[in-house]
Amino acid sequence: MLLDPVETTAQLVAIPSVNPMGRDAAGPEFFEGRLTDHLEGLFARLGLPTLRQPVAPGRENILARLDGTIPPDRGGAVLLLDAHQDTVPVEGMTIEPFRPEVRDGRLHGRGACDTKGSMAAMLSAVARLAESPPPDMPTVILACAVNEEFGFTGAASLAGLWTDPPAGARFISRRPDAAIVGEPTGLDVVVAHKGAVRWTCRTHGKAGHSSNPDAGANAIYRMARALAVFERYQAEGVGHAPRHPLCGGATLSVGTIRGGISVNTIPDLCEIEIDRRVPPGESPEDAYRHVLDFFARHWREPFDVEHMPPALVLPPLSDDANGPLGQSLADAVEAVIGRCCTIGEPYGTHAAIYAAAGVPSVVFGPGYLEQAHTRDEWVPIEHLEQAAEVLYRFVSQGGVAPRGEGRP
Ligand SMILES: [Zn+2]
Repeated sequence: MLLDPVETTAQLVAIPSVNPMGRDAAGPEFFEGRLTDHLEGLFARLGLPTLRQPVAPGRENILARLDGTIPPDRGGAVLLLDAHQDTVPVEGMTIEPFRPEVRDGRLHGRGACDTKGSMAAMLSAVARLAESPPPDMPTVILACAVNEEFGFTGAASLAGLWTDPPAGARFISRRPDAAIVGEPTGLDVVVAHKGAVRWTCRTHGKAGHSSNPDAGANAIYRMARALAVFERYQAEGVGHAPRHPLCGGATLSVGTIRGGISVNTIPDLCEIEIDRRVPPGESPEDAYRHVLDFFARHWREPFDVEHMPPALVLPPLSDDANGPLGQSLADAVEAVIGRCCTIGEPYGTHAAIYAAAGVPSVVFGPGYLEQAHTRDEWVPIEHLEQAAEVLYRFVSQGGVAPRGEGRP
């Protein structure tokens, strides 16, 4: 059975799999379950064995395996293809999010670009490989993980299939030799990207009636002083962290603020969330420490600021760790579309999690990051067909070789 990448993208977009991003999730469009079921059915029709891996209640990664010419435990190569199931929410969209529409060479809909187009290109390539397996085909694991957009928990569980056997020992008999993570890269190959560390910071005060401010202590005013130090860190402190030639340097941004219960009460608590991006060469733990040290050096106020432990730790993806994989995939892209660059990006992906679990990993997929998460999200149709062709050729032309150290 062959799968057309454009039609397949449209089918995937039509099945809502919205990540509630930590907010209240009432409504049929939330979570990945319906898409997981659809993928399970599709893999069954392709004749591929599958594994559903529970990550959280009602949220499961789904993996399918296309067995290679030589089994992995007898020296055959293993390639992991990854595309996340979830999308960001749909508020404010100016198009019908789940009614895919083809117009002007573009397929519109939530997830078309990030990252159901990538998933469809992978499905299409795998279906073609299954239909007529080339000689010396590696084993291909197609993994569709949950919860990429809010915490990376699906990919972390997935990596446990080979870092923490025997959970997945029967399905993945050893660590993969390479991973391609599907995200909108404009058909370039991302060989390095930043990681991130995020945490909450609090100021405390003393509640009281707003008619008598001197009797209380205003946690929001206190936070305003702390914010000035974080702003100063982005302006001058962050420069001490290493710069990466492809990804640039470290950054800090305060993304949310909450404080107070009513306008006539002096607030006794104010909270912010901080996002510190981590270039390759720095660890998230060092980055967190770097900010706290700077803060401590520049803090002159007579009250304390509470820094919570990190809520999210995503390592950076270093091009030192993916060896020849990036170039050999870029060569396959160039053979199909006539051009390709190996690049670095400021955002984070599953590739960093797989790389940290010992797998050379790169990011590649149809569509442009500029259209991800947008009000009228779309992916170029031409990209979908080209990405499917690239993946098919990369696998069938021996793009992934077994690494001796990957074997048991
Ligand atoms: Zn994505």
